[in-house]
Amino acid sequence: MTLNVLVITDQREGHLKPSSLEAISEARSVVERSGGGSVTIGLIGSGLAEAQKEAKSQGVQRVLLADHESFKGFSAAAYAFAAERMAAKLSAPLAIFLPDTAMGRELAPRLGAKLGAGTATAVVEIQPGASGGLQIKRKVFGGKATETVNLLGTVVLSLRPNSFAIHPAPAGDPPVEPVEVGELPASAKGLAVERVISTRGDTPELTEAPIVVSGGRGLKTAENFVLVENLAKELGAAVGSSRAVVDAGWRPASYQVGQTGKIIAPQLYIACGISGAIQHLVGITNSRCIVAINKDPAAPIFKVADYGVAGDALTILPALTSLVARNKGA
Ligand SMILES: Cc1cc2nc3c(=O)[nH]c(=O)nc-3n(C[C@H](O)[C@H](O)[C@H](O)COP(=O)(O)OP(=O)(O)OC[C@H]3O[C@@H](n4cnc5c(N)ncnc54)[C@H](O)[C@@H]3O)c2cc1C
Repeated sequence: MTLNVLVITDQREGHLKPSSLEAISEARSVVERSGGGSVTIGLIGSGLAEAQKEAKSQGVQRVLLADHESFKGFSAAAYAFAAERMAAKLSAPLAIFLPDTAMGRELAPRLGAKLGAGTATAVVEIQPGASGGLQIKRKVFGGKATETVNLLGTVVLSLRPNSFAIHPAPAGDPPVEPVEVGELPASAKGLAVERVISTRGDTPELTEAPIVVSGGRGLKTAENFVLVENLAKELGAAVGSSRAVVDAGWRPASYQVGQTGKIIAPQLYIACGISGAIQHLVGITNSRCIVAINKDPAAPIFKVADYGVAGDALTILPALTSLVARNKGA
């Protein structure tokens, strides 16, 4: 079976997000494992010159471009309209991949409904199906179980960040084809994001970062939370927190990891002064390696940790930070 994959990317400040690169790389891999076909990148937004250059270097067959004022701020209705137009330019069998970011999670079901396509979010594995279509795996019940789903016909999948490798792209010079959208119909006009306010400075995005350092109530005060941020800075990591930290007003809600915060899957998760309540663990169980620093050797976090340090985070964190600084590049 051959397969045509359309990857609708997500951009940040005009550049393709790492999770978009993952989705493109996985699309190339699935097409190869399916016995051939094509990968097309669909760019939707406004002011996409840089993203266009990046898309052209991804070893794909085609780039479709909807670069228009109407798409300046993300709007699920407008983006689904553009994505549907893009999908119409490809022939079956067709799969549409999106990164499972805030944008992709909202767009995937809407696009799936428009196309009458089988849809799955938070996908962590994709295989060509035995009887055509695709077989996918996704985590359910807060990461406690893995669901295997066979999807036939056109499929729409959002791929969980940090779950797929980014392989080097083969050389190529794909054509860029503008997609005419004209005046958006009333049905494509909906609520749109007006502006994005970063509460995280220049630190990596929590859901996409390969390394995350998180702090909990064990840090005792808001001022001590800087110890977590210092280590994160040395490691080039994103900073997260437990809900207790957010509830105490030490850091904003965008830092919260867990059931009612962000679900993440970094290569390395370092939990400092976090007990490991089930609601927190739900957000981190897909991490490749978990390191816990907690002064209570019986803390539940040690049950899921690959490495644990039973000790005082207030003294361990500064020591670890200077150790990392000293050994950088070694
Ligand atoms: C519906 C619902 C949803 C929730 N959603 C979330 C969620 O999304 N994310 C989330 O995190 N929580 C969530 N919670 C809250 C969760 O149940 C816990 O209350 C919370 O995770 C505890 O945060 P904590 O581990 O920082 O604090 P604590 O449970 O107070 O743990 C602090 C830990 O720090 C250790 N410690 C103390 N001093 C030191 C020191 N000097 N050095 C090292 N370790 C030290 C202690 O031994 C302890 O294990 C939710 C709760 C509910 C009911």
